[in-house]
Amino acid sequence: MTLDRVIVASSNAGKIKEIREIFSGTEVISMKDLGFDEDIPETGRTFKENAYIKASTVCKKYGMPTLADDSGLCVNSLDGAPGIYSARFSGEGPAENRKLLLKRMKDLTDRKAYFECSVCLCLPDGKTYYGVGRTYGRILYEEIGTNGFGYDSLFWSQDLNKSFGLAADEEKNSVSHRARALQDLADTLQRL
Ligand code: IMP
Repeated sequence: MTLDRVIVASSNAGKIKEIREIFSGTEVISMKDLGFDEDIPETGRTFKENAYIKASTVCKKYGMPTLADDSGLCVNSLDGAPGIYSARFSGEGPAENRKLLLKRMKDLTDRKAYFECSVCLCLPDGKTYYGVGRTYGRILYEEIGTNGFGYDSLFWSQDLNKSFGLAADEEKNSVSHRARALQDLADTLQRL
């Protein structure tokens, strides 16, 4: 199946750029292009449910195919936390989230972790398609590098053999959970 046009239920310019690269034959419309600035409550219990909530809300409003994603960091020794609460882990900003993660992991030697991303495509006829991607690594004892966002400076990537905080955008995108989830969805659509 090929899509002529898709709305991306996000205002994150980096995500939109990545989606344009992977869905190169598709016109990608951002929330900014539509002037949509409502906050969609992420009330799901999984990345997949949250991606569906965002995509289906916008799809119903505009009657057009809509793509949304949800992602976060899952730490093995914290039973998968912060998971879907990654963005609001400390209740404050990204720097406080990183601080809290280091505090919670102070005495933990199992540092294994992964980023996960679920993407959901909703069509106006009610059909939904999903993609999922992960990227594996471990949590550092202190921040390394200043590139990226969120937990990047605390994540040592198994694929890149360096901190995401030291990785250039293109390097990170070549192994990222989001790129893998988008590719997984693109592969599914291609088979239809
Ligand atoms: P969202 O899916 O963009 O809402 O991301 C949820 C949260 O997960 C972000 O605010 C970050 O805290 C974290 N996160 C997701 N993906 C990444 C990443 O690639 N690097 C660092 N942090 C991430």
